[in-house]
Amino acid sequence: MTETLNYDVVVIGGGIAGMQASLDLADMGFTVLLVEKEPSIGGKMFLLSKTFPTLDCASCISTPKMAAVSHNPLITVWTYSEVDGIFREEDGEFRVKIIKKPRFVDEAKCTGCEQCEDACPIIVSSENNFNLIGRKAAYIPFETAVPKIALIDMDHCILCGACERVCPADAIDFLQKPKTVDVRAGAIILATGFRLFPAERKKEYHFGEYKNVITAMQAERLLSPTNPYNHVLRPLDGKEPMNVAYILCVGSRDRTIGNPLCSRICCMYSIKQAELLMGALPLVDVTIYYMDIRAFGKGFEEFYQQAKEMGVRFVRGRVASIDQLDNGDLVVNYTDVENGGVFKKETHDLVVLSVGIWPNPDVAKLFKDERLELDEHGWIKQTEENIRPNATNIPGVFTAGCATGPKDIPDSIVDATSAAAECADYLRRIRNKAVGVIPVEVR
Ligand SMILES: Cc1cc2nc3c(=O)[nH]c(=O)nc-3n(C[C@H](O)[C@H](O)[C@H](O)COP(=O)(O)OP(=O)(O)OC[C@H]3O[C@@H](n4cnc5c(N)ncnc54)[C@H](O)[C@@H]3O)c2cc1C
Ligand code: SF4
Ligand code: SF4
Repeated sequence: MTETLNYDVVVIGGGIAGMQASLDLADMGFTVLLVEKEPSIGGKMFLLSKTFPTLDCASCISTPKMAAVSHNPLITVWTYSEVDGIFREEDGEFRVKIIKKPRFVDEAKCTGCEQCEDACPIIVSSENNFNLIGRKAAYIPFETAVPKIALIDMDHCILCGACERVCPADAIDFLQKPKTVDVRAGAIILATGFRLFPAERKKEYHFGEYKNVITAMQAERLLSPTNPYNHVLRPLDGKEPMNVAYILCVGSRDRTIGNPLCSRICCMYSIKQAELLMGALPLVDVTIYYMDIRAFGKGFEEFYQQAKEMGVRFVRGRVASIDQLDNGDLVVNYTDVENGGVFKKETHDLVVLSVGIWPNPDVAKLFKDERLELDEHGWIKQTEENIRPNATNIPGVFTAGCATGPKDIPDSIVDATSAAAECADYLRRIRNKAVGVIPVEVR
């Protein structure tokens, strides 16, 4: 049996863009259901170290937003929930079918005390730390997770019952089942963000095989206040790296893997990480191998120049491949573009791949009665980019943040605020015209 609930807007995706759009809509008096597929809201931002070019603490910005969303009386947050289908009703409203996945923990009872996590004997790779460390089968996704409620990973649980025995709230419920809920809404905001380029596809860089070749997202974790090792260490042997290389444009501007686009943020996040590395490890050498440095935003050029002054070495070159030495150090083979295209080799003890931003094209499959248009690269198409940048080809469906293409955090926030304004305007127009009895201002 399914129940039907009503909201003005369903926002899909609880990253910084989805959170900002939800807060703005709630400020205008609309009711919002924010649906996030992961166990916590926050998206990629709450996993970052600091933000370029100001070096503000990323979690210090995202954590209050996460709290504001969860405490807003007009916003309902469903985490660990999948949208199964979006349908158009006869009256023009949407019906969104959502599956609330079982946490095997009673959300109403769990206090987030972490005792189940301590007791659980099973350790698997931690998704939020990009496999740098493990997590338990019974776990809370993150210290600052919202909601701070445990869940059990049934793919790995051995049903030993240790969590159930220690839980002081009697919250463990191995019999929980998925719950399907139908929600009606006047409009939808797609804030489904991006996925990271799967670095193993660049076989010549041996990510996943050479342990000291890591992605920039793993480097973010190593540089964050919640660093899984409490220090910057290389994964293979726990040695402090002394000579780190960054390779830019991994999975971007590369027709050999099908993505000619620039990811817009990788130059800047790599420069940021280089500066943070120098702060964390004062004796470290950092080399950035690049094609062009794209420092187009406010304060970006100054940030780039500052990195050079700090001693970050910029080498204009194409990295052809990486080889591993017996001690785990890595030989970077590259063409030195600025010095006549000479082929060179250089040894580093850690290599960071500055992976690109890729689309989540599966979002189009959510629409069952209409076809959501994507652009040629798989991003949601902005059908009226110059006049209504948040509109899609489907009336009543808007986009926010990186769902339409790579953006940094400030641009994602601005885009989300713009999406909320477009969406509010749409709701006022259709409801005043079609229904004529819902003056939004007095609700
Ligand atoms: C390594 C790295 C470093 C970065 N450093 C910086 C920096 O220093 N400064 C800066 O400004 N920017 C930085 N960025 C960019 C920043 O991460 C993005 O601007 C920001 O995360 C975009 O937010 P978003 O909400 O659009 O997308 P996301 O953060 O991707 O959030 C999207 C959310 O939607 C959810 N979702 C997706 N599909 C569904 C679905 N079908 N149903 C329900 N939920 C769904 C996802 O689980 C996720 O929570 C960095 C990015 C990377 C990769
Ligand atoms: S499930 Fe129980 S033991 Fe685990 S965090 Fe919640 S209250 Fe604590
Ligand atoms: S029952 Fe499963 S989740 Fe609970 S402690 Fe045992 S392995 Fe961990």
